[in-house]
Amino acid sequence: MSSPKNLILEAKNLTRYYEVSQGAFRPTAIVKALDDVSFQVEAGKTLAVVGESGCGKSTLARQITMIERPTSGELQFDGFDLVNISDSDRRLARQRVQMIFQNPYGSLNPRKKIGTIIGEPLVINTTMSKEEREERVRGIMTKVGLRPEHYNRYPHMFSGGQRQRIAIARALMLEPKLVVADEPVSALDVSVQAQVLNLLKDIQQEMTLAFLFIAHDLSVVRYLADDVMVMYLGRVAEYGESEPIFKNPRHPYTQALLASTPHLKAENRKERVILSGELPSPLAPPSGCVFHTRCPYANDRCTAEIPVLLDLDGNRKIACHGVEEGRL
Ligand code: SF4
Repeated sequence: MSSPKNLILEAKNLTRYYEVSQGAFRPTAIVKALDDVSFQVEAGKTLAVVGESGCGKSTLARQITMIERPTSGELQFDGFDLVNISDSDRRLARQRVQMIFQNPYGSLNPRKKIGTIIGEPLVINTTMSKEEREERVRGIMTKVGLRPEHYNRYPHMFSGGQRQRIAIARALMLEPKLVVADEPVSALDVSVQAQVLNLLKDIQQEMTLAFLFIAHDLSVVRYLADDVMVMYLGRVAEYGESEPIFKNPRHPYTQALLASTPHLKAENRKERVILSGELPSPLAPPSGCVFHTRCPYANDRCTAEIPVLLDLDGNRKIACHGVEEGRL
């Protein structure tokens, strides 16, 4: 995270609010799905965004992939201002950011041959001939570990891991600069997860591809992430370089996430903060620190005052009164 040289994505004070109807005779509620979120991603690097469902990860993905526009703040991607982007620039920018989803089968049309599925982005965005497209598709199939002779097969003829390779191949067709990967291995068998993660890592190096990797499983994140951003109810709890966060998580929520990750070795789970209670409703978030209802270290200040994200040492930012006061 320190001294970034080649930024591909940068968010400053990014917010996304939703108005939610609460029925007749009741005022409209505002859900702060993203609240004052700032981060950077360098070309060829991976930022992992981690947290429980409802923390804002998917909302963030929708802003970056231009499905929605942020409410306020700044969001720069590869020279494009995504907050004020024109329709013609959005078409261009969308080619450079692609998405991989959790359920590869759900994102593949079962009635189409995989060669057709993988080649679709070329049909839509280029003037390549059929032969040129087929050659390109067969090349990318080899790159992701699929056999080119399976070009005419249908998605149901492949295993879960192979289907995710098909989805990855399609995402790579336009040579994007950023891939938003939304829980890309959580639906796969554990034995297959490592193969797909290895593939993503190899492709990243070869194509200098940046990843925004959305996950709830910290063990997956550790393998790929250069930086980690832990989110809770739309706000950033802890953000910084990956290894220091894994070795010494400081925010009580990060500690709780790590403690609940079964794959990590015992020495990495020394801070045993156990997550108790439910995630509060985003319609009525807690006052002060939004984590205070589940935090064993909460005090009066925590219930009254929103903690700001403080730069600890140039490599890590934490939003926690306890850390700021030196009691954690
Ligand atoms: Fe816990 Fe207070 Fe820190 Fe929030 S600010 S994480 S409630 S100690």
